[in-house]
Parts: sequence; structure tokens; C-alpha cells
Amino acid sequence: MNSSPATVSSSTTLAEAKRRRTFAVISHPDAGKSTLTEALALHARVIGQAGAVHGKAGRRGTVSDWMSMEKERGISISSAALQFSYRDAVINLLDTPGHADFSEDTYRVLSAVDAAVMLVDAAKGLETQTMKLFEVCRHRNIPIITVINKWDRPGQDALALMDEVLGRTGLTPTPLAWPVGEAGDFRGVLDRSDGSYIRFTRTDGGATIAGEERFTASQAAELEGEAWHTAEEESGLLELEGQQHDQDTFLAGKSTPVLFGSAVLNFGVHQLLDVLVDLAPSAEARVDAHGEPRPVDAPFSGFVFKVQAGMDTAHRDRLAFVRVCSGVFERGMIVTQAASKKPFATKYAQQVFGRDREIIDTAYPGDVVGLVNAAALRVGDSLYEAQPVSFPPIPTFAPEHFMVIRAKDSSKYKQFRRGIEQLDHEGVVQVLRSDLRGDQAPVLAAVGPMQFEVAEDRMNNEFNAPVKLERLAFTIARRTTPDWIPTLARERSVEVLSRTDGDLLALFSDRWRLQGVEREHPGIVLEPLVVS
Ligand code: GDP
Repeated sequence: MNSSPATVSSSTTLAEAKRRRTFAVISHPDAGKSTLTEALALHARVIGQAGAVHGKAGRRGTVSDWMSMEKERGISISSAALQFSYRDAVINLLDTPGHADFSEDTYRVLSAVDAAVMLVDAAKGLETQTMKLFEVCRHRNIPIITVINKWDRPGQDALALMDEVLGRTGLTPTPLAWPVGEAGDFRGVLDRSDGSYIRFTRTDGGATIAGEERFTASQAAELEGEAWHTAEEESGLLELEGQQHDQDTFLAGKSTPVLFGSAVLNFGVHQLLDVLVDLAPSAEARVDAHGEPRPVDAPFSGFVFKVQAGMDTAHRDRLAFVRVCSGVFERGMIVTQAASKKPFATKYAQQVFGRDREIIDTAYPGDVVGLVNAAALRVGDSLYEAQPVSFPPIPTFAPEHFMVIRAKDSSKYKQFRRGIEQLDHEGVVQVLRSDLRGDQAPVLAAVGPMQFEVAEDRMNNEFNAPVKLERLAFTIARRTTPDWIPTLARERSVEVLSRTDGDLLALFSDRWRLQGVEREHPGIVLEPLVVS
């Protein structure tokens, strides 16, 4: 039996919360997120799960009890946390699935972090998926650290990249280090805090920690000549523009410290860890649904930010990922589900990353635990011990993919309806309805197409209601009001449907169609829904 939570003093909880740094990497596929994750783990000490970090190739083919679909494709649908220690800190890196497994869950992860690292490919700049994830961070005022990656390869000009960050995000880039040598000729960085030079040395294969040596500015001038002078000059320009780090504007989500690196060569990774520890916020009091902060040393509380279903088809396994907000989580404790007031036993808590699971015994604010057998839990649920609390619901996000779903077999309509309701309730997909389409053919809406596959798989196998899905040619949803329905109904290839949360969504094939309707009907209510 575990010791009772009361045995952990509030000063221990406060100290542990202060050590936590909980963040996610926001990036476009191929920017180097997996490579960076491995590099971070290499520099740090992975807690309790040595060898837990695998590249994509490493994950492929691992024998596991995960969803068969996931096995077939060799990709990970899960998003969970990798925990490691660095200096005095405990760092939780929450995975943000990209590529084909980009989904509403990817956005939801951002509700559980205290900071984000925006990883940018030096050649490609800010790409679409990065921008989508950035919008969610902006909405939540999440402090962002920018890392320009792949500086070892030819890419854009460093100052031009800073202009792009400012122009596209509105965040003032405040580089902490400035590259010496242009993209493709990465020699090291100028440390803008003291003007010294950190020279990087390649090590064989990049598999070990890269060599770093520090030199004074005059030594750097000797060593690197023109490349050093250019770096000094450009850093000076930034200073003139006021692009110096400011902790307050960073924490307020108005400026972003910038680092340059090469994840594959392990350059700049060490700096990133230091920046996370020195500048990123620790786990602090989270505001509840009434706007009241829940002190980190209050009794245990947390919220579910993701539910993973069907990982073990034999057991209809449900894994609910909980971000700890206050107090100490101890495996075996009985917590209360805020919405139902029902008790939930946490006998099988796990730490999960990729395919690896490990039993977890204790967790502190900022940590993530995976609760097994969590059929009763759903996204956004608050859990607490002793002192009730409800955290704000996790919003739904703007869908970009739409499909009509129908039962293949009309005699299975009851199962069909039950399944759709359950998937909607769990937030697997959004369900949109209209009188025109009727209950037999609702529209499923998703952030990423993978959500449809999960829905289809569960309808077929779990709810025993085989379905047909048919893609609709819409890519944009806007929130509208009832008085605009007649106007929109007269428009060609525009459809208005209502979502379960009560929102009325107008769907458009593309932005030209949307702009056409806006031009034609000045004053029409069509609000963008980054989140709603
Ligand atoms: P992810 O899709 O964001 O997880 O990207 P990966 O980590 O899988 O990286 C995509 C590709 O870029 C891989 O071939 C990596 O080896 C390569 N890559 C990642 N970081 C760097 C880097 O700093 N420099 C170079 N040259 N290649 C990199």
C-alpha cells in the first residue's frame, strides 16, 4: 500500500513544483522534433526509463498491445510525456503528434504545458503546422522559446528569419545567442548575455554530446575572423532594435528568446536545456473554472487532456492522461471526478511515452500520469482529492476536415447512434448536425484526418456498427449566428450545421469562397474559430 498523501509535506510539494518545467515542441513535420527530443534526452538523465526514447524507426515494429491501426502504419497515435532531469530541474516534454497523426489531441496537449519550444527549420521558416500550433499557444499566452534548427545546412539569413518570426507571430524575437557562420557553416554562437563565443565541435555521428568551448570576443575574432565580426555586427543591430531578452514580456507571451542549433549534431541543445531551466516558468497555481488559482500545495488536483482508446483491443483499454495541477499524486489514491462526483481508483497509473509504459508511483504538479481503465474519464475532466476543484474545459478547435458518416446496415441504427454519441462525448471527433442531413447522416469534423480513422475503427469494432464515410469538400469552418442561416442557405457550396456545444458552424470549401460570401454580405457574422 502506498503512503497516504498527507505524508508529503506542503513544502516538499512546493519545492517539487518549482523544479518542474513542462513544455511541448511546436513544429512542422521534418523540422527535427524527434531528433531534438533524442538530443535533449541525451543531455539529460531520463528518469526511470533508460532507453525509452526511440526515433521513428525504433518505434516501428515494436511488439505491443497498441491499436492495430497504429501498428500497421508504424506511427504513434499517443501523445504523452517524457520525463528527465537536468541540473536541479525535472523536465516534462509532452509529445505533440504531427505528420499523419496530427489531430485535435495535438492542440489539446498545449492545454497541459507551461511553455512551448517553437522549432523552426532554418531553410523553411515558419510552416503551416507550426503556425496552427502557435495560434493555440498565443490564445493561451503560453511563453515560447524559439529554436532555429538545422543551422548546419544551407538556409535563410538569420536576420531575415527574425523578421519572419516578428511578422508572422507578432512576438519580438530576442536572440540569446547569435550564430557565428551562416546557415551551412555553423561554427558556434555568440552568447549575447556577455559577448563571449561558444565554439561547437562536431563529434562522430552526433551520437555523443557535442564539444563546446568558450572563448573571449578577441579570441573569437582571431579564430573566426569575418564570421565573428558579422555575428557581432548583427547582434549589435538587434540591440539597437531593442531585441534583448526581457523576462516579463517572454512570460506574457509577447517576446520570444531565440536560439540557433543543430539537433542532429547536438549543437545548441545544452543551451536550450539551460534556457528551459533558467527562464521557462515552473509549475504554478492553475486557475480554476471560477478564475481562482488553485495553489500548487493544495491537495491533489489535475485534469484529463487526452484519452487514448483501444490500445488494448482485448480489454477495451482506455488511458486517460492527466496533468497534475496541485498536490501529490500517489498511485493507489482514490480521487474524485469533479463532473460526476464519482470516485476513481488510480491503481494503475503509468508514465507513457511512445510505446513505453512504466508504472508511476508519485507525481507532482507539472507531471503527467496515464490512468488505465479510465473508461469513465473524458477530455477536460477535473480530478481532485479532498478539496473540490474544476478546471476550465478544454476548448474545441477549428476543424478542417469533414465527412458524412452513415451506418452500413440500417438495422444497426441503435448501435450507430450510441457510438456517435460516445465518440462525440469523448471528443474523438466533433459531431455536426442539421435538419437537412438528419440523424442518420451526421457530419464528423476533425482537425486531422486520423481522427476519422479512429472513429471508423471504433464504430466497426467497438460499437459493432459498421459505417460508411464520405468526404465533404469543405476545409474551413466559421462561427455564425441563427439570423444568418437563411442568407447562408442560399449560397452555393456553403452549409450551416450545429455542433453539440451549441455553436453554429458555416462550412466553406476554401478561403476564396469564404471571402466571396463576406464580400457579398457586408456585416455577416463569420468568426474564425482557432479555438472556441
Ligand atoms: P520531425 O518530423 O520534426 O520529428 O523531424 P525529424 O527529427 O524526424 O527530422 C527530420 C529530418 O531532418 C531527419 O532526416 C533528421 O535527420 C533531419 N534533421 C533533424 N535535425 C537536423 C539538423 O539539425 N540538421 C540537419 N542537417 N538535419 C536535421
